[in-house]
Amino acid sequence: WVHKYCILGLLAYYQVTGNRAALTAARRAADLLLRRFGADKQSILTAGTHMGMAATSVLEPMMLLYRATRDRRYLDFGRYLVAAWEEPNGPHILTTLERTRSVRRVANAKAYEMLSNLCGLLELYRATGVKRYLNDALIAWDDITRHRLYLTGSGSSFEVWQEDGVLPNTEAASICETCVTVTWEQFNLQLLRLLGEARFVDQLERTVYNHLLGAQKPSGEAWCYYTPLEGRKPYGTATSCCLSSGPRGVALLPTFIYGATRRGPAVNLYCTSSAQVPMAGGSVRLVQQTHYPLDPHIVLNVDPGKRPRRFTLYLRIPAWTDHVEVRVNGRPWIGAIPRGQYLGLTRVWRAGDRVDAQIALPARLVEGNYGNAGHAAVMWGPLVLAADASLNPDVPLESVVLRGGSPDELHLVRVSEPADAEGAQFQIDALLPSAGAPRNLRLRLCPFYAASSTGSRFLVWMRWAPRGAILLPAGGSP
Ligand SMILES: [Zn+2]
Repeated sequence: WVHKYCILGLLAYYQVTGNRAALTAARRAADLLLRRFGADKQSILTAGTHMGMAATSVLEPMMLLYRATRDRRYLDFGRYLVAAWEEPNGPHILTTLERTRSVRRVANAKAYEMLSNLCGLLELYRATGVKRYLNDALIAWDDITRHRLYLTGSGSSFEVWQEDGVLPNTEAASICETCVTVTWEQFNLQLLRLLGEARFVDQLERTVYNHLLGAQKPSGEAWCYYTPLEGRKPYGTATSCCLSSGPRGVALLPTFIYGATRRGPAVNLYCTSSAQVPMAGGSVRLVQQTHYPLDPHIVLNVDPGKRPRRFTLYLRIPAWTDHVEVRVNGRPWIGAIPRGQYLGLTRVWRAGDRVDAQIALPARLVEGNYGNAGHAAVMWGPLVLAADASLNPDVPLESVVLRGGSPDELHLVRVSEPADAEGAQFQIDALLPSAGAPRNLRLRLCPFYAASSTGSRFLVWMRWAPRGAILLPAGGSP
């Protein structure tokens, strides 16, 4: 651990400041590991917990050090670490993923350590081009997104991957360690940089807008170690792994809101921001203004510099949206707009060009399964919403029933100003079963990221009944 994070910190400091002493110190820390551990020395697996996965996660900084120095000893050590996974007592990460296609079956299923190793594996792939490393990382990504990811974009209970669909909601189940949230973010960012596919940004968006920001107190002063989907959020300031991981996850945001491709700049996330995106022939300045994802309108100013230039501007179109309109300098963009992919706008761009995009933010009703069967969650675009007791005094939230088969029947509306991100509020039709006729209710919701910020109780998964079902008070039997 200590070497891993010291090398990462020293390298980052060197890259920002050019301070050679930091690079020298990083190399000395790495060289100490090279002297002590190896195929003909002490096994790295003996140096840490979780069947060696804690210690071998030094793979990522080792590969970054190789990139910074081109010293082949660090590359060789990276190869040694991956070979060590397959030692008799090792975690067998690659062979287990290939055989079972399940992260639950890998070693002791410890989520953060495994994801950190996979981030290192993708750095090793970047250095060597060995396809097996990428393929196995994608097996893990498929398995996590299909079976082990919370609606809010994190995973794990008691810090390990659970069986398919076992996603308990309460604090008692110690769910979604912030280190897991942030390393899942890093893993998706690695895959995005390598493959440039929008599906990884859809995951980044889900995680950032929901579980990452939901783990931080809106004032910024405290973080949750585990962040439940119901109950109260246990914000704290005690020193822990998660208190350092959380801010690191937020600090990563500016590195992927925009992207650079060979054909032109890409807009990955929609938020008020600006960037100078590097390109052959000179960088392009992008300035974005929007209240997205509370409002669908996005304004993007494109400035390629003094000379007009032909290139492609890529806009990520989220997979979940149902309607998109794009205008360039006021004129509608004609052509198919693919969902879950990038829309490429190829033309000669001039200083002063303006793109207006409307990316609809549909209400979505997500039906629960496994432990959430009979329940549903409500989403507004990428935002998971929550019923918070502070917004609904005197309403027994566990008893409230969402009724209807389609989101249209819920009449979800935003009731706060689009600029008010911290105080964002929504309203939805719901029912409160009682001994007599069910009572109609207008339930107030807030984004999961803001739920419980004043210490109130909240829940994401609410009772749900299709139209026509007989409603009983909570706890009642048919
Ligand atoms: Zn942690």
